[in-house]
Amino acid sequence: MTVTRFAPSPNGPLHWGHAYSAIVAHDLARAAGGRFLLRIEDIDGPRNRPELAEEFRKDLAWLGLEWDEVPAQGTRLARYEEALEKLGSLGVLYKCTCTRAEIAAAASETGPEGPVYPGTCKTREVPPDAPAALRMDLSKALALTGPLCWHDEIAGEQTVDPAGLGDPVLRRKDLPASYHLAVTVDDAADGVTLVTRGLDLFHATPVHRVLQTLLGLPVPRWHHHPLLLDAEARKLAKRRGSPALADHREAGEDGPAWAARLRRGEWPIGISLGKPHI
Ligand code: GLU
Repeated sequence: MTVTRFAPSPNGPLHWGHAYSAIVAHDLARAAGGRFLLRIEDIDGPRNRPELAEEFRKDLAWLGLEWDEVPAQGTRLARYEEALEKLGSLGVLYKCTCTRAEIAAAASETGPEGPVYPGTCKTREVPPDAPAALRMDLSKALALTGPLCWHDEIAGEQTVDPAGLGDPVLRRKDLPASYHLAVTVDDAADGVTLVTRGLDLFHATPVHRVLQTLLGLPVPRWHHHPLLLDAEARKLAKRRGSPALADHREAGEDGPAWAARLRRGEWPIGISLGKPHI
């Protein structure tokens, strides 16, 4: 049975890009006679605005979608801790005290998420009480897993290639888990068989694939859909003025009619669909 999800972070209102993502996931689930889940990804520390979760539900209902809601990330901290203990016992974690500025200054490569971490803390002693993130040593991890593949429904069969990734953070200095760890643990806990999300997260998937093998979790399929872009061909973002769905909803516009237009590929004014894969 296909189980897919929409997993928004309540750090800003939903916009048309989120609406598209939710509709794609919802329709993939319905077409397969499966389940469509909503999961609120609320562990983003100070950027988290709990009141937005209820707005998200209103937006999805306004679009005419139906979903099953699974527990928010904030309720699952013990699972993340357990996963980190397991990874620690495999010897693939190390503490990192580097700041963003230090990483930017030391990096010699730039990847999809910015400067690639050059491994500064891998070989240095970190004082036990220094505030530290936990990173996964990818070369050690891949030595344990061996070569890995994953399947994207649009881009096809992919192999995990560590080049350009850098050692990912699994626990942040200020948070009990990083996006990579939380999303991997949660998708498994929620029985997700098809991870539907935007193409901007395509480059994150190899990290999740490695974690699944190390943690003994089931391996889903992925569907990375193209992104909606603004008039300057940039990903939509509230901070760049993309309108909030809530504004349209509160203005009394017809949500299901908007959803029908998005399904037909008729985009709101000034918005277009980006390229289908990386
Ligand atoms: N919470 C993430 C976001 O809002 C999406 C995570 C995912 O779909 O894997 O960008």
